[in-house]
Amino acid sequence: MIDSLELIGAEVRACRLCKLCEARTIGVPGEGSPNAEIMFIGEGPGFHEDQQGRPFVGAAGQLLSEMLRTIGMRREDVFITNVVRCRPPGNRDPLPDELQACDAYTLRQIAVLEPKLIVTLGRYSTARFVGQGPMRDMHGRAREWNGITCLATYHPAAILRTPTVEMRRIYQDDFLRIPDLLADARTKRAALTAATVAAETATTAQLDQLPLF
Ligand code: URA
Repeated sequence: MIDSLELIGAEVRACRLCKLCEARTIGVPGEGSPNAEIMFIGEGPGFHEDQQGRPFVGAAGQLLSEMLRTIGMRREDVFITNVVRCRPPGNRDPLPDELQACDAYTLRQIAVLEPKLIVTLGRYSTARFVGQGPMRDMHGRAREWNGITCLATYHPAAILRTPTVEMRRIYQDDFLRIPDLLADARTKRAALTAATVAAETATTAQLDQLPLF
């Protein structure tokens, strides 16, 4: 089967893998460029996202768009999704079984997009791709996950809850790390591709030298 963002989207909208499907209005698979080099992964849809079936369309989404603009990017240039794709009732935290059920969609989207950089927004996606710990310690940290650079930062809603100049500056500093991390990730990916091509060329050359009979 050739997987695609469209197929994953259709499956999410019809998904019944966990009980979040019972109260959702529309599942929110995620959206953005199919050629995105960066994936942003948040927590889960809120009220507006659940109504519209699109991620980060409320106040938190506006802040995310603003932060993207500070690094010369637009929402349409990246891919935005969440660790759970149906709204938890009353915006409660997602439960372990819900996170686990939805993880397969995240992994499939990563496999289709092959992003060079994943930016985790908030503690749930940070715990999944960067590591466990309070966000005040985790934010700004980057690590490799399956060959993909992952950067942890706060969920935009957390910044809206603490609207100080200091928190804004900290948030902006995290986003300002993105261009350099992306440039490094591009270089690493190109080197890996070159090494793979060289290894395949060597194998083909060896096979060509084998006697046919
Ligand atoms: N918060 C999230 O984590 N995701 C959204 O899509 C919206 C708000």
